Amino acid sequence: MKPSIHNTLSRRKEELAPSGEFFGMYCCGPTVYGPAHIGNFRTFLAQDVLRRVLECSGIKVKHVRNITDVDDKTIRESRKLGVSLSEFTKKWTEKFHADCEKLNMLPPSVEPRATEHIAEQLEMVSKLVENGHAYAAGDGSVYFKISSDPDYGKLSGLDRRSLATQSVNSAGEANLADEYERESVSDFALWKGRKSEDGDNFWKSPWGEGRPGWHIECSAMSTKYLGPTFDLHGGGVDLCFPHHENEIAQSECSTGLKPYVKYWFHSAHLMVEGAKMSKSLGNLYTLDDLISKGYSAQQIRYALIAGHYRQQLNFTFKGLDDAKSALSKLSKALASALEKAGMTEVGFKKLIMPGAKLEGTIFEGAWGALCDDVNVPKALGEIFAALPKLGDSGENLAAFGAILYALGLDPLACGAAEAEEAPEEIAELARQRWEAKKAKNFALADELRGKISALGWTVLDAKDGFSLKKA
Ligand SMILES: [Zn+2]
Repeated sequence: MKPSIHNTLSRRKEELAPSGEFFGMYCCGPTVYGPAHIGNFRTFLAQDVLRRVLECSGIKVKHVRNITDVDDKTIRESRKLGVSLSEFTKKWTEKFHADCEKLNMLPPSVEPRATEHIAEQLEMVSKLVENGHAYAAGDGSVYFKISSDPDYGKLSGLDRRSLATQSVNSAGEANLADEYERESVSDFALWKGRKSEDGDNFWKSPWGEGRPGWHIECSAMSTKYLGPTFDLHGGGVDLCFPHHENEIAQSECSTGLKPYVKYWFHSAHLMVEGAKMSKSLGNLYTLDDLISKGYSAQQIRYALIAGHYRQQLNFTFKGLDDAKSALSKLSKALASALEKAGMTEVGFKKLIMPGAKLEGTIFEGAWGALCDDVNVPKALGEIFAALPKLGDSGENLAAFGAILYALGLDPLACGAAEAEEAPEEIAELARQRWEAKKAKNFALADELRGKISALGWTVLDAKDGFSLKKA
């Protein structure tokens, strides 16, 4: 079985195959100006699962994910705090790495930073100016000329006939935004002339001092590490337009090579308890927010990958509780199989890796679902259906290890295997107690602990969360 995905560009399901000695995969990374939220992680996790599935199918993957460490937001926030841009973005990059590790995400093969690739970006802008696809405006900025690219709009299905593309006059200003709606399609900035609000965050260029636009960094860095045409590009569906459309235009017009990317992989939005995520609703959860409510990173991972990546995911606390019981089922089945087989947990951990044969095993159905447009919900269903057949055979255990690797699940990880399933009423009291403890309301925390133990449970505190044990 070969993995396939729905390719946004061709609008069809296609089998994935590397065009060269490795499968080149570029994913738009985080803009490091604060902690990533679970909507961001949903996308990164979908890409992580895709990469794992490719690896399990025997394909060698080169995974590049960038760090956007210069843009309007990073500059604004660092200046507000009076710290240098690099100091500011370093802190949030480290935080991002720590969260990824907790979520058991594989680190990318290369993680280039925009500020370390200014030369490559300038080189691409120069090429576009030379071959007539870009022009310098009076404001010291350089713009991509959309009307010079007959293919513009092919990814997002933008209808060019109805496009009133504007060129930028010497005033320029209005066209400097990195993110905009389809209604305001106009030539976009490749290079932004220096403005007073940039402070000392600028670089020299043939067009004067300034900084790169957002879109050009992904074109320049993907080309540097994967070549001018490569296999797959991933991102959230919100990046399809204008970001990815602009990346295609920049890359294909600067190299004259088509296509820039063969397969486009977009994951759908995340809703929280049926509502759109927003600061004002207070549901823009970070990993820390959920861990401090008593959920483990494995549970959060499970809940974020459990829906199909192309369908909007409604993230709920009920879903997190379901993830907990699912993980606990996996760990119980595993524990009993290990006991029968006389294998230790340490021994089994070595089997959580790609390589084992999945076809012809009890996990063939799950593997087939993952190969069929990364259908994680179907794969999970197939895994639970296969568990009663696990037995103690080495072949089954090796296949179990491989399918767990594909999903990035580790039922032996702390917080999954050890946590016992408490009734919702107890879990709710424990969450309230944790909140009270965090707010330093120790009287209330003690009172709640008393209630919990009267109901026959003990709360165990860890550094970043708690677990419950039957007393
Ligand atoms: Zn990007």
